[in-house]
Amino acid sequence: MTQHAHGDHDHHHDHDHDHDHDHDHDHEHAPPQPDDKVHSYYQILGVALKELLIEKGVVTADEVRAAIEARDSITPGNGAKLVARAWVDPAYRERLLTEANAAAAELGHPLPTTHLIALENTEKVHNVVVCTLCSCYPRELLGLPPSWYKSKAYRARIVREPRAVLEEFGVRVPDDVEIRVRDSTADLRYLVVPRRPAGTEGMSEEQLAALITRDAMIGVATVKPPIL
Ligand code: FE
Repeated sequence: MTQHAHGDHDHHHDHDHDHDHDHDHDHEHAPPQPDDKVHSYYQILGVALKELLIEKGVVTADEVRAAIEARDSITPGNGAKLVARAWVDPAYRERLLTEANAAAAELGHPLPTTHLIALENTEKVHNVVVCTLCSCYPRELLGLPPSWYKSKAYRARIVREPRAVLEEFGVRVPDDVEIRVRDSTADLRYLVVPRRPAGTEGMSEEQLAALITRDAMIGVATVKPPIL
């Protein structure tokens, strides 16, 4: 079993399941929750730990809720700001590619607990990111990972046949371009700096940021030029 802890928080309900469904008249009829499912050992452990911390007064339920809300509200716009700045500012690009944590913090998006590496896509190299073990992802910069990123199919296939998988995402990587598949870990996260599309020379940093998508920063998409 992995020791990864991912702050997986989609399980905040009482866990002492009462599976006797014939007489739940004492309960209010709450609407069914999307997370009504069998929980793993580690999910139950997480809920138990949270309830204990609240019971002991270490944190309050409202603080836990607010932390989840803040986490859930992060959008890929954070990462896009970094990429757009790198496109317009060569000195910032250099900092992002050599000291990504500092460069992210500089724009107000620190990753306090993990090492960040920014990978630049070029004419010769296309980087694509995966977590083969689970779902490690630069959440401070991209928000929550998409479900396909967590799927066993993506995690296995992007390593074995990256060119074919990228083609399924709509990215045709020419044969003379090397594909580098980067495997994230609990301590190490990657941000792809996609190539700046032609025809964007006159655009502002904010306009550029609007073109940069989540998938381009994972490496399963390219940035499209603006539709004029
Ligand atoms: Fe992971």
